[in-house]
Amino acid sequence: MKLIYVLGAAGSIGEQTLDVISQDQDLFQLVGISLSSDRIKNKSILDRFKVEICCLRTGDDLAFYEQTYPNVRFVSGDSGLIEVASYPKKGILVNALSGSSGLIPTMKAIESGKDIALANKETLVMAGDLVTQAVRKYGVKLLPVDSEHSALWQVLKDEKIDDVKKIIITASGGSFRHLTRAELQNVTLQDALKHPNWSMGAKITIDSATMMNKGLEVIEAHHLFGFPYHNIETILHDESVVHGLVAFKDGTMKASLSVSDMRIPIAYALYYPNRFTYSKHLELTHMSFKPMDFNRFPLLKIAYEVGIQGGLLPTVMNAANEAAVKLFLSGDISFLEIETIIIQSIQNYKNILHPTLEDIILTDRWIQKEITDRYRKR
Ligand code: MG
Repeated sequence: MKLIYVLGAAGSIGEQTLDVISQDQDLFQLVGISLSSDRIKNKSILDRFKVEICCLRTGDDLAFYEQTYPNVRFVSGDSGLIEVASYPKKGILVNALSGSSGLIPTMKAIESGKDIALANKETLVMAGDLVTQAVRKYGVKLLPVDSEHSALWQVLKDEKIDDVKKIIITASGGSFRHLTRAELQNVTLQDALKHPNWSMGAKITIDSATMMNKGLEVIEAHHLFGFPYHNIETILHDESVVHGLVAFKDGTMKASLSVSDMRIPIAYALYYPNRFTYSKHLELTHMSFKPMDFNRFPLLKIAYEVGIQGGLLPTVMNAANEAAVKLFLSGDISFLEIETIIIQSIQNYKNILHPTLEDIILTDRWIQKEITDRYRKR
């Protein structure tokens, strides 16, 4: 049996993870989860799975849940996430939390000897050096769940890193890929939330439309696979069929292709080193590739520069993005203001190299609070 924990179990990746787990109950046992504030969703998950520990968003409903599910230990809030992550039984923790809230639980799970199936890319953007150091120190596995990184992981398996010339991550371009920058002036939140290929949570769908998602993924790839930034390339690929490619020094290129269904990378991480059985077939049709357009998507260029500089700057970029996306989702700013806020935050920040975990967490909170206070319409 593989023991599984899912943080963010009621979110998009979380639900798809539960779907994978429920189809193989002889192999997987769900031990711990964290849920949302949606009581109907939470109840349906708790009815389907017999978990030992469950973290609720807040302590408000604790009495209700404790009464309804007397065999489950309920905890809540940030400290509850840490309790689930540090739960004494080893296993795989799927981190499907959205945003910077994923960092501390990842660290605590590593310290308690759990393998991490990482869907929370912000963890590596903010603290890639500290996380990969901890992974080595505690001898656990870091299993990528992001589709591009899962593809690269599969392609790089059994290859020598020295034989690799570069790795290539594909980008669909998100909801507004066919619009010019001028046309982005008046786009709406509703339109931004319509991703052409993937069904995902709100934050990542907006991140895809701004191309910040690809920027975060470049930094994530750097930490996962250890390549310098000049060996990590991004290309536009409308169809989201090819997720990652590796170019070798001998002129060979290997790619990983699949249907755009997040259950495939989730299952690859959970079944690793085996593979699961998938019901659908990938139909090979026309596929297109175009060089990345850094003028159209300036945030991706900025993410490369921020990644190269390192230190606290990736945390600043990530925090500014997270706060700006929340403001966009709540109708407080326009789509293009997301870019402006991120660029200003980076320009105004004096970088610190080799930050501690505490530096990272405090900077994240401070930047997010400052931006929210400044732009939130009362
Ligand atoms: Mg991705």
